[in-house]
Amino acid sequence: MNDCIFCKIIKGDLPSKTIYEDDLIKIIMNINPSTNGHLLVLPKEHMVNIMDTTNEIIIHSLDIIREKIYPLLKERLHCEGLTIAQNNELGQEIKHYHIHLTPRYPDDGADFQYNENNLSPLDEVFEKLTK
Ligand SMILES: [Zn+2]
Repeated sequence: MNDCIFCKIIKGDLPSKTIYEDDLIKIIMNINPSTNGHLLVLPKEHMVNIMDTTNEIIIHSLDIIREKIYPLLKERLHCEGLTIAQNNELGQEIKHYHIHLTPRYPDDGADFQYNENNLSPLDEVFEKLTK
């Protein structure tokens, strides 16, 4: 995908602040961070979303997050939590699979509250999911 901004970053055609890199993934700083240390995990191979990625990428990414990145964020930035998020299709700005790592701090103001607008009754949604 020649016009994919994340593919360009992975190839080095666009600059990025790389925190971690191996054969499968690259972890960079988000240029529009929600909190200090907001990172993006990118597979090096172009994949659009979770339906398109591989178990290998997902498991490897989580291993690296647990073994290296979360400890690094705790040690260097003194975060007290980590929100891991991943958008697919609607809500996904860049169509190259990526995982958001948002370090959490007391009173960081990051708003991950669930939207209460236009919600169907819980029972109605449950029925649609299970019947
Ligand atoms: Zn790409």
